[in-house]
Amino acid sequence: MSVKIVSEVKRQPITGRAPLDTKPHLWLNAEESKILRLRLAEDMPVPAYINKHAEAKMRNHALSARKSKTEVMGLMLGEVRNWKGQEYVLVRDIVTSDLDATAVSVKFDSAGFEKLFGKLDSAGFDYVVVGWYHSHPGYGCFLSGTDVKTHTGIFVSPHQIALVIDPLNFEAAAFKIQGDAAVKVDFAIYWDEYDDPYGGLMRISKR
Ligand SMILES: [Zn+2]
Repeated sequence: MSVKIVSEVKRQPITGRAPLDTKPHLWLNAEESKILRLRLAEDMPVPAYINKHAEAKMRNHALSARKSKTEVMGLMLGEVRNWKGQEYVLVRDIVTSDLDATAVSVKFDSAGFEKLFGKLDSAGFDYVVVGWYHSHPGYGCFLSGTDVKTHTGIFVSPHQIALVIDPLNFEAAAFKIQGDAAVKVDFAIYWDEYDDPYGGLMRISKR
């Protein structure tokens, strides 16, 4: 089974209700979390839901480059869904590769791109690329002019999102492009039934 980067454009969204078990990202502030919780209580989906394991991978990836203060990036894989006429994405996993990174820029090097495609081929599921993530070590969450160009050049579908993580200020934000401008969008962390939302430890009671 292979996942092709161009395929998501033609993919028809799956009709389905948004995940029920959701929470705000750990690094949203209290006010942002409060507003998001109200939105999540409604029956209309927010633009993106990120599986808690995928979110932890991205957060830890960004945190791993805290000392060097270099950027990291990767692709988000998942599904495009539709509920009551509103499209949204589910991020089920991520892939990353060797990076050519400095404190203010990041890109996949050419060898890294080949590896990345190899990883997409062996990902073992038929997911599509629903967006990308990268980090801004210490300078906040926004899309730079270069980020906007990257996004509009590669991620042409309107549902695709860009997640920005600042591992020094402990911030995270998701964006879409409308016209030429980056617009911040709501996103939630979700977990599947039987997943423990708090740390992934199985709570099996001892007899
Ligand atoms: Zn950036």
